[in-house]
Amino acid sequence: MSSPDSNLLSINTATVRAQWSLPEIVAGCARRGIGRVAPWRDQVAATGLKESAQRIRDAGLALSGYCRGGMFPALDRGGRRAALDDNKRAVDEALSLSAPCLVLVVGGLPKDSAGRPASKDLASAREMVRDGIGELLEYARPAGMPLAIEPLHPMYAADRACVNTISHANDLCDELGAGVGIAVDVYHVWWDPALRSEIERAGGHSGRLLAFHICDWLVPTTDLLLDRGMMGDGVIDIPLIRSWMESAGYRGAHEVEIFSAGNWWKKDPDEVLITCIERHRTVC
Ligand code: ZN
Repeated sequence: MSSPDSNLLSINTATVRAQWSLPEIVAGCARRGIGRVAPWRDQVAATGLKESAQRIRDAGLALSGYCRGGMFPALDRGGRRAALDDNKRAVDEALSLSAPCLVLVVGGLPKDSAGRPASKDLASAREMVRDGIGELLEYARPAGMPLAIEPLHPMYAADRACVNTISHANDLCDELGAGVGIAVDVYHVWWDPALRSEIERAGGHSGRLLAFHICDWLVPTTDLLLDRGMMGDGVIDIPLIRSWMESAGYRGAHEVEIFSAGNWWKKDPDEVLITCIERHRTVC
């Protein structure tokens, strides 16, 4: 397996969000010769949409995705309508930023006003997700903004995403048609025995492989959300999964996305970027 093309390295801005604002991240990546970023909506909002787009353009950076839309399930029609409206705004922002896709974390069980799970009906949450993406597609498809369903590890089924395998995401794409694809994040899908065949199914003429997120699975993992590892520090065979992505025709970015409250978020962000570059070259 040859080293990956360094031009494909992208930094998901969550990776250094604890240390840097979006303009600092953009400047830091440009300084290190990293050509792509994937910003989050709250960071863009804090800087301002216009200003964010301008700074990214001026730094010569491109986006590998925009994080994120989704969170479709809600207890009532009003809640689902509000989610759809917010997702439409996310599509508009993604267009302003020239993102190649809007990443969808689809949502889990409906929540009450205090944010607690208010239902045990997972099947109906999954229907709301399908319907929500379908409605959003009517807006995103003519606007030319691809939607990338990101299957999340099943440990997030209740609170973040009830689409937990690439197989389920592929089924949704089959049902919903053009304009929707898949973001493959190794952290969420590395354990899946059907991973290789489902990547193949998403690739080729299906053209559904819209994003590739990398980090590592630490053993032990001490926090369900905020203990992701740097590539090479855990048990995911990233070069193997990359080879499957490439065999399936994927030629896009390799986006480093690390939430790490106890480790990488405490380090000098320049050092984090240098480590990302080095690990991308040597263990991805
Ligand atoms: Zn991801």
